[in-house]
Amino acid sequence: MKVKDIVIVGGGSSGWMAAAAISRCNDVKVTLVDKEVPTPLGVGEATLLSFEKFMVEQCGFNPNEFLGELDAGLKAGILFKDWGHKGNEIWLPFYWLNYPFTDPPVSMVDAWSTSQDIDFKKLEVLYQCSMDNIIDRTQIGEGYAVHIDCIKLIKYIKEKISDRITYVNSSVKAYLGGNTLYLENGDKIEADLFVDCTGFKSILKRKRDRVNLSDRLYVDTAVAGPIEYEDKHNEFRPYTTTTAVYDGWIWNTPLQSRIGTGLVFNRNITPIDQAKEYFCSFWDQRTTPDKLKVIDWTPYYDTNQWEGKVVSIGLSAGFIEPLESTGLGLIIEGIKTLSKLLNDGFCNEYDVNYYNNHMTLAYEQCVDYVNCHYSKSNIKSPFWDYVRDNYKMSEAQEVFLDEMSSENKTIMPGGKGFIFGVGNWIHWLIQAGYPLEPRSWMKHDKMDESLNHLIECEDKKIELGTDLMGHNEFADKFL
Ligand SMILES: Cc1cc2nc3c(=O)[nH]c(=O)nc-3n(C[C@H](O)[C@H](O)[C@H](O)COP(=O)(O)OP(=O)(O)OC[C@H]3O[C@@H](n4cnc5c(N)ncnc54)[C@H](O)[C@@H]3O)c2cc1C
Repeated sequence: MKVKDIVIVGGGSSGWMAAAAISRCNDVKVTLVDKEVPTPLGVGEATLLSFEKFMVEQCGFNPNEFLGELDAGLKAGILFKDWGHKGNEIWLPFYWLNYPFTDPPVSMVDAWSTSQDIDFKKLEVLYQCSMDNIIDRTQIGEGYAVHIDCIKLIKYIKEKISDRITYVNSSVKAYLGGNTLYLENGDKIEADLFVDCTGFKSILKRKRDRVNLSDRLYVDTAVAGPIEYEDKHNEFRPYTTTTAVYDGWIWNTPLQSRIGTGLVFNRNITPIDQAKEYFCSFWDQRTTPDKLKVIDWTPYYDTNQWEGKVVSIGLSAGFIEPLESTGLGLIIEGIKTLSKLLNDGFCNEYDVNYYNNHMTLAYEQCVDYVNCHYSKSNIKSPFWDYVRDNYKMSEAQEVFLDEMSSENKTIMPGGKGFIFGVGNWIHWLIQAGYPLEPRSWMKHDKMDESLNHLIECEDKKIELGTDLMGHNEFADKFL
């Protein structure tokens, strides 16, 4: 089918991000339709490295401009507190160096799989910097993602692309298939392809091949609201913190003007009011129950994200849960894949299948990775008892974990082009306490030398670079 006229329905983050990127594809005309009073979701989002790259490369925006507009703070990684057991701290960075001071250099991942007793996070520059609340400016771009305000993202994109698209302010009344969309204001719009970005409502697609993920994911509700800074100097940290708690877990994504935070839990186990009370006491009553939004979902994704003339992107295509920021990551994956296909000017059945297979794999890999975070907890509470009693992995995950505990390690999940690669997995698995065999190629003399050197370094404070700056100061100057 020829694809020239594209109508995006829904003006949340997914709708505007799709509009910004797709309007730059060859020879297409984009219209975005949103309700008279738009109702996008916005809780203060943590992103992955792909976000900034997407904004620059796919949308043509200038980071020196948009980061400030989005209230951005930097994110060097995620600090998981109390996951597994009380007092545990797991650090998942975006970027890990080979240890350049060893000869030959040892990759972080190989070293860690070989010497699991060493607390390797202490040898990571960005961990050290992050705990000291400073930024290593040499790693901007590769080592840092950002926390952003999604409502400000929508506003920013809307202003920037007003001359690239047509914006229609009306609810959609009906889509009956074919090329015509019927609006509440009485108008009709014709298009070759529709992109459904209407969030959980997903109003365009009539047939949905849904995978319900409730057997592999354990949370389905959040209470969320902003917290004002009391001590910004210390609280505006350059990383996300997620803390495992009695009812589930709490995220903390510091923005320049406030902290985005929420408690994620299972509504069949914890009543909403109890969750709100718990959350307020976690924050020493710095917020009150009446100020909190309640957001619920059933974790799922569709295997037919592209069906006929409708492609679903964002919450309408699926939602896992907030852990590991897969929301915007999967939106970007969808938009990038679609844009590549649209650049040819027409799409065929092969493209539709390719898109659906690619996105199914992307969702599955994210589900496996998120699922793994729940696997080794000894916290005593009805929620964590429920997780332990019902814990289930996919077959792919079982095969992968078997492989990782052998020394061959020929099967790797993801890798280049996937959202979470083997490095992410290894960081999690080792810190969570999985016994991993050293890789076979790590067993030669030179490697022993390198590792010995590394072990010596463990006790010393790692040498930080010279291009450092406090996070607050960095944000004031550059964000
Ligand atoms: C609790 C929670 C925490 C999250 N945290 C993160 C995170 O840290 N990092 C991350 O990457 N992602 C996160 N996400 C996911 C992220 O918030 C979403 O992926 C993102 O907001 C995209 O939403 P969307 O655009 O698909 O849908 P929405 O924001 O719901 O937008 C839907 C749009 O459709 C419009 N619409 C609806 N019906 C109609 C109609 N009939 N006609 C016209 N328009 C219509 C609405 O007006 C609205 O503008 C989180 C999600 C939740 C629930």
